[in-house]
Amino acid sequence: MQPINVTVWNEYVHEREDEKIAAVYPNGIHEAIAEGLREHPAFKVKTATLDMPECGLDEETLAKTDVLIWWGHCKHAAVPDEIAERVQRRVLDGMGLIVLHSGHLSKPFVRLMGTVCRSKWRENDERERIWIIEPAHPIAAGLPEYIELEKEETYGERFEIPTPDELVFVSWFSGGEIFRSGCCWKRGLGKIFYFRPGHEAYPVYYRPDVRQILKNAVEWAEPTGGPRPTLGHFPKPLEDIPLVDHSDEYHP
Ligand code: ZN
Repeated sequence: MQPINVTVWNEYVHEREDEKIAAVYPNGIHEAIAEGLREHPAFKVKTATLDMPECGLDEETLAKTDVLIWWGHCKHAAVPDEIAERVQRRVLDGMGLIVLHSGHLSKPFVRLMGTVCRSKWRENDERERIWIIEPAHPIAAGLPEYIELEKEETYGERFEIPTPDELVFVSWFSGGEIFRSGCCWKRGLGKIFYFRPGHEAYPVYYRPDVRQILKNAVEWAEPTGGPRPTLGHFPKPLEDIPLVDHSDEYHP
């Protein structure tokens, strides 16, 4: 089995500053996510946090990462633009990216989407019912028709994202809102999955169904080794035809 190299990135702030959150995730959200992924025999999982040199996302680490998972909330602005651009370039080059919960406002995600990515939100211990609306999608493998999270933060439409290439999950909240909670896009050679649950105050990343979703998402997002398209001026025709070279003319 070919290994899939996964890096779980977390800003790792709430768990160290708020004892209620520390009680939920004593080793950090990244370790809870990594623990679930390590159940998969093919995944090689490492973690990275904001306080590491270069946010733990130096060129070498990213070059060796097949799928990057991103959890961030209050420190989006602390991620240097240079690092966000580095992540964006790696995605365009084929790395998978899984963005969780409030990571929808992270610099790499906003850059890759090209929209503001904001939504409604409310912390009110409401129930979230996640409907799996594309049962044949690889990220839905092994899931029931819907999943209920007894208490979660509420997010509500409109979620200001580009229309997903594939919408796998839609959430309903007991306060009445709905939200596109499992969204897929392709950007360049890379695949991106956004998954909504995972507010820091609730222990959702220990749940077997959520762990199944993240494992499925890593398998879906890993680089597929597809062709690198030729871009730009291609002077020699593939077929044996006369070459009429207009390359010195201006092309916008
Ligand atoms: Zn939250």
